Amino acid sequence: MIARAAFLKGMIVATGGLDIWSSPAPDAVPTPIAGTPVLVRVATTDGAITTLDVETYLRGVIPIELSPGWPAAALEAQAILARTYAIAKKNLTRGYDLVTTEGDQRYGGPQAERPATNLAVEATRGRTLLFAGGPTSVFYSSCCGGHTEDASELWGHAGLPYLRGVDDPYCVSAPDYRWVRTLPLDRACAQLADKLTAPLTGVDLADADASGRPRVAMLRGAGVVTVTMPVTELRERWGTDVVRSTWLHRVIIDATQAVTFVRIEGSGRGHGVGMCQWGARGMALAGADAGTILAHYFPGTAVSGG
Ligand SMILES: [Zn+2]
Repeated sequence: MIARAAFLKGMIVATGGLDIWSSPAPDAVPTPIAGTPVLVRVATTDGAITTLDVETYLRGVIPIELSPGWPAAALEAQAILARTYAIAKKNLTRGYDLVTTEGDQRYGGPQAERPATNLAVEATRGRTLLFAGGPTSVFYSSCCGGHTEDASELWGHAGLPYLRGVDDPYCVSAPDYRWVRTLPLDRACAQLADKLTAPLTGVDLADADASGRPRVAMLRGAGVVTVTMPVTELRERWGTDVVRSTWLHRVIIDATQAVTFVRIEGSGRGHGVGMCQWGARGMALAGADAGTILAHYFPGTAVSGG
């Protein structure tokens, strides 16, 4: 998982699920040459830096990103994306290329390896996702909720054609396809304390983008809107585990219980840009291969020959 990273405008977003990273300049990204090992320098949390063949690195990443019990085509699509990501992160100006946490992709080391995910890495050896023959900026998240997000909506950069939102009928079985979470009202207010000028009495959602995700939350206090903020900020403040995506359907104050709660209803888990992992699983179960899965989530791209 890639949980936090800076994108083109240097914005920091947290999405839970998988996330984003600094898009490299195209000419800074090495193109793998078939048969030539690609080495990545991995910085572990204890400060050590280990240089690994990217294929070895991926063996310790994929079983953490996805369940090894998922169908092979989904594991292979994830391997291609994780490889594309890792190679694009190679950084000549820094002492390492990747961290082992959600800052990049979580890496569990050799002990995390599983036979099924090792097979997926081997089956896709050297293969990356290309657009117009060049490297791509790839993203993925757990569940898009039925329509992936346009990267330009979430991060405000000039959209790459392959990072536009697409319909996704394949993730309906995901646990977070539709979700409800609650937060005690006093805690919800505390996390907005520097913004609220009156006790929170309601939240209106507005300015939906093409996928249906609202862009703006209007916080009401004493019956009138006192604060507006981006939904991305509200998600940050209330926590990405509670507000599981930016695709919110409604937020209501529930005063029917002994403790008053904020009830939040939404779709999907994570930022929703790029490959939907649960959707990849659904496509694989329906018979799609890895290339077909990636072409669905990244229109116009192609997998390199390896
Ligand atoms: Zn999806």
